[in-house]
Amino acid sequence: MPANALFNRPKPVMSQNHEARTAHAGPWVIDTREIGHRAGSSRAYTRRAPAPAGFGLDMIRVPEGEPVELDLLAESVVEGVLVSGTAAATLVGECVRCLDPISEQTKVEVRELYAYPDSATDASTDDDEVERVVDDLIDLEPVVRDAMLLSLPSAPLCSPDCQGLCSGCGVKWAELAPDHTHETIDPRWAALQERFGGTEEEK
Ligand SMILES: [Zn+2]
Ligand SMILES: [Zn+2]
Repeated sequence: MPANALFNRPKPVMSQNHEARTAHAGPWVIDTREIGHRAGSSRAYTRRAPAPAGFGLDMIRVPEGEPVELDLLAESVVEGVLVSGTAAATLVGECVRCLDPISEQTKVEVRELYAYPDSATDASTDDDEVERVVDDLIDLEPVVRDAMLLSLPSAPLCSPDCQGLCSGCGVKWAELAPDHTHETIDPRWAALQERFGGTEEEK
């Protein structure tokens, strides 16, 4: 869901039952009325949310539509709602050295304050510093996305000691003999070798 969808959506009426509101909000959204604004009250959320497009980097990412497992606690505090817990997903990508496919599990810590609109935090911080509760709703997606992005390797490898590919033939070094080499022969010597039938090169 695009972030600005939160702002455009009409406020759900209070008489709606709990299930309807949750379904309306979607798995990336928490309705803070479920928690209550009294400081100290809290609610646990175990959710499976589909990854939106662009959840990661080109070389390693959570594919669009694949599940992100959210295991979060939302606590009402004086200034807003504190969300903490973990987000887990399966990353897929390519090794930057040998281009082999990579698939690995990741689990990141999430800890974020969403400020109430009428709080001192709201008055004293910019929107890009502290997240906001908007229309009683919390959008988890940007925060979880940022936490995942920060945890991703900028140069993912299939294994830490991946040797990559031979620049001469493009074959993985792991599959080549230890003495594998490409002899670069001067064209003039190649002509001589052809003439005398020799293929050995002096070392
Ligand atoms: Zn590799
Ligand atoms: Zn080679």
